Amino acid sequence: MAYVITEKCLGERYGHCQGVCPTEAIYAGTYQGKDFMVIDPVVCISCGACATECPVGSIVESEDMDPTYAKINADLAEKFKANPKVTARPKDEAPKKPTNKLV
Ligand code: SF4
Repeated sequence: MAYVITEKCLGERYGHCQGVCPTEAIYAGTYQGKDFMVIDPVVCISCGACATECPVGSIVESEDMDPTYAKINADLAEKFKANPKVTARPKDEAPKKPTNKLV
């Protein structure tokens, strides 16, 4: 099983998860015209480090918790893999999406 980045990240993207992943399983890109990040299920070792880094709690610990986004993560991982790393936004910056809250 792998961790999954969910819809909360779509159009939000703080980017801290990428910097803490020990296996470099997290890639950035755009999806539906919005900034996003995904976890490569082939590379993720389910250590959990990324989930605690997300200021809006966008990362869930198993594919079962969000099968729709689990598939989106897996599909986009192939496309995003070669993309450059992103610069993280400040963790205390207000969320861009009105539905997101700092956790
Ligand atoms: Fe990387 Fe660990 Fe998050 Fe998997 S759970 S994406 S290995 S930080």
